[in-house]
Amino acid sequence: MKSSKSLRKSRLKRQATSKQIQQQLCHIINDIPQAQSELRQNAAHKLFALNKKHRLKMPKDIGLMVCKKCYVILNSTNSMTRIRDGKLIKTCKICNYVRRIGGSKSNWRSRSA
Ligand SMILES: [Zn+2]
Repeated sequence: MKSSKSLRKSRLKRQATSKQIQQQLCHIINDIPQAQSELRQNAAHKLFALNKKHRLKMPKDIGLMVCKKCYVILNSTNSMTRIRDGKLIKTCKICNYVRRIGGSKSNWRSRSA
């Protein structure tokens, strides 16, 4: 059986490597040209799996780009973006998942004003 000290050490190591891999995947999604969509799509899938396994936080810019239900990278052809009462509403056209961003009442703007 492992001592608690070595266990903690291995956990730290695992966290560090998983964060590194997360950064690499983010780099693939952000910096690789749109044409290689299959590669970016695979990276998005892997990123979600990695975050789930290691309980990492999703980087905010990518969290907004990817559908949370079917893990598809959203663009203008497979999603619909609307702004309503100060909220950003993103609808995935593949699985019809609706995401509302920014919703507290203090952020609302009434239509008449
Ligand atoms: Zn979707």
